[in-house]
Amino acid sequence: MINVIKKRKENNNMCIFCKIVNGEIPSKKVYEDDDVLAILDISQATVGHTLVMPKKHYANILEIPNNEYQKVMLKVKEIANKLNTKLNPKGINVLNNCGEAAGQTVMHYHVHILPRYNDNDIKLEFTDHSSNVNLDDILKEIND
Ligand code: 5GP
Ligand code: ZN
Repeated sequence: MINVIKKRKENNNMCIFCKIVNGEIPSKKVYEDDDVLAILDISQATVGHTLVMPKKHYANILEIPNNEYQKVMLKVKEIANKLNTKLNPKGINVLNNCGEAAGQTVMHYHVHILPRYNDNDIKLEFTDHSSNVNLDDILKEIND
């Protein structure tokens, strides 16, 4: 009984990734230990597209505690290396979306690892606004 209550506290009942962690929804596991789970993203934006997440529920990078974050990110590095060796992509994107405006759709912290095979297999464009902004003004706003 205590265990059930504890589990409920640690997991968001409605969260699809908590359900995957708990085995209520099946997944293709790339890696698993006591704290971290890595699965194939169902969309496979590129072949080998993998999601690495803490088993405990934290909404995003702003909320995950440092010790959990470190565990996840060390595995991101290991799994990126494994995908690089096994799938032989030309490059890899490591990506986290934080908040709906940034494209986050599942509110359980996770990191995307996206092996890249072609220049145009994902569109991730940065527009150059450098002629319209003052870097010192921006820095002042951030640091003051
Ligand atoms: P976000 O947009 O939050 O950064 O990424 C969420 C990702 O979760 C998406 O790429 C989406 O394809 C993936 N996803 C959503 N539901 C499932 C699911 O049930 N299983 C798996 N493996 N991936 C999922
Ligand atoms: Zn969750």
